[in-house]
Order: sequence, then C-alpha cells, then structure tokens
Amino acid sequence: MLILMGLNAPRKDVEKVKEKIVSKQCTPHEIPGSLKLAIGITGPSGNLTIEEFLGMDSVDEVIRISKPYKLVGREMKPEDTVIDFGNASIGGDELTIIAGPCSVESKDQIFEIAGALNELGIKFLRAGAYKPRSSPYSFQGLKEKGVEYLAEVKKEFGMKIVTEAKDTQTLPLIAEVADIVQIGARNMQNFSLLEEVGKIKNPILLKRGLAAKMEDLLMSAEYILSQGNYNVILCERGIRTFETHTRNTLDLNIVPVIKKHSHLPIIVDPSHGVGIWDKVTPMAMAAVACGAHGLMIEVHSHPEKALSDGYQSLTIKNFKSLLENIEKIASVVNKRMNYAELHVDK
Ligand code: PEP
Ligand code: MN
Repeated sequence: MLILMGLNAPRKDVEKVKEKIVSKQCTPHEIPGSLKLAIGITGPSGNLTIEEFLGMDSVDEVIRISKPYKLVGREMKPEDTVIDFGNASIGGDELTIIAGPCSVESKDQIFEIAGALNELGIKFLRAGAYKPRSSPYSFQGLKEKGVEYLAEVKKEFGMKIVTEAKDTQTLPLIAEVADIVQIGARNMQNFSLLEEVGKIKNPILLKRGLAAKMEDLLMSAEYILSQGNYNVILCERGIRTFETHTRNTLDLNIVPVIKKHSHLPIIVDPSHGVGIWDKVTPMAMAAVACGAHGLMIEVHSHPEKALSDGYQSLTIKNFKSLLENIEKIASVVNKRMNYAELHVDK
C-alpha cells in the first residue's frame, strides 16, 4: 500500500500516519519525490484498510500496490532513483563506467591498473578481494590483504571502490572500504546476506543470478530496500541458456523491461555476459544503446597473467578504444560519460 501526502504536509500529520502503520505491525518507508510525499508500507498489509488512512489529515490518496515487489516498483516511486556520489551519480543521465580487474592479485597489480584507469578519468574501480569461484581449487582472492590494498588505492587515487561481499561475516570489513558493495550473481538469493546489506548505508550493486528471472532479481532487491537501504543498483551480467557459444547469454532485453517496472538504476556487465574479450565492446555499445545507466568492465594490464577471468578482460589499450566507441553511442542516447573530462588519446 502507498499513502500519498502533500509535499508540505505538517510533520505531525506524517508522523501520525507512520505511527498508525507501525501499530498495525507494518513498516513505513518515506519515499522522496518531487510532487508528493509518499509513504510506502511493507508487511502484513491485510491488516490495513484504505479508508482508515483516507480519513487522516493531509492524506491525499491511498493506493494498493498490485505487484509482488513493492518498494522497488514504479507504482511506489514513479521517479528514477539517482544515487549521488559527490562527483558522480548513478541512475540519471550520466553513463557510469566501472572498470578494473576481476580480482585484486597483488599490490603492484592493483596500483598499476588503478593508476592507468585513473589517468583515463575512471571514477569507479572494481576488483574482488573475496572471490566466489565455481571451483574450490581456483584463486579465492587475497581476502583481508586485498581489502587493505583497495583501501590504499582509494587513498592514493581517490577512486570509488566497488568490491564484492561474499558473506555476512566479511561484510563489515568490505563495507568499510567499499563505496559500492557488490552482491555477486551466485549470492543474488542469499537472503540473509541481502537483509544484512539492507541494514548498511553503502549503495549496493546487485548482480542478476545465473538463472534468475526479472521478477526474482526485483524481489531480491526488495529484500534490501525492505531493510531501509534504498540505494540499490541492478546489474545484468548474463544468464545460463542452451547457447554455449559465449560464456553466458547477455540478456539486454531486461534493461528496458526493468526500466519500465522499477525506478532503480540498471547497469550491464558485458565482461561476464559474454566471457570473451573481443565480444565485450560490441555488447557494451549495445547495452548503452538500449538504455543502461552504466557499464561494468573487467580490465587488466596483463590479461594473459590474470588469476581470474583473464580471457574476458580488456587490456588498457582495448579499454580506451571501448570508451571511444561508447562515447559515440552515449551522445546518441543523450547520456553524459561520467569519467573526468576525457583524457582518452584520440
Ligand atoms: C565478478 O564481478 O567478478 C563476478 C564474480 O561476477 P558474477 O557474480 O556476476 O559472476
Ligand atoms: Mn570476474
């Protein structure tokens, strides 16, 4: 259920509405909007009637939400969510580029790559310290050391760090350094982890599960919002299909569909989506063309030596050329590139 009140509704009227919601064992969520003050309600809404709210001071409208997802849906919040990072934002008309290696492998490696990306003006550095790998014998990440190097790189270059929280135990450590906490595809339905990241302040990048439908992805995001963290970025990263010519099948259909159903930003990770480096740029261009709010791209200074996902990683040189191609598409779809005034060599 959604209660709409005038933007200038006196605070005491708003509080009374919220108290009533709580008294019915439900949770109120104040949703910022430019036209109305909206209070979303989650919980056992069978306890509530439209009439009891309609009679309250300053309440203009009461709407029942028909979709199974509530807080993430456009019914609850028609306006796009834009997440502010000071010198960047995600979800508006900026096109966000998140780039970096799959994993932090050593101090030298992360400094070399971050330095090169920083030179290009990239503001968001991705790199995993805790890696969820299909095989227990594959490189599992540098763990605490990796987080330490990310903290150092952040201090050195001032880049914003995007890194994965693999479980609830290591989440507090990750949350200290991460500007965006990544929840990986394999954890998209780890509901206890989703609830925990719902309780922290960091924006969350939620990757689509390997076999998750659009509704599953939105319901997982709902777990996070329902705990009070409204800053969630969705990420399409390819799904499993019968097709094996690429690592996964990048489902770009989901971009316009999500934008219709949800106000949350959606970005695309073509690196995991295709799994082969020379297919990354064309699919990144397609992602921008179909309206994605950003891209997450795996970049490595020496992909052939990478400890994870080298085969899908772009060299710095190829990444520069991706940026040049993306810039052309971005201007067609009226998006501004959000990396610092282009340093790309033309
Ligand atoms: C990653 O971003 O390196 C990663 C492990 O992604 P995913 O969870 O999408 O497989
Ligand atoms: Mn990877």
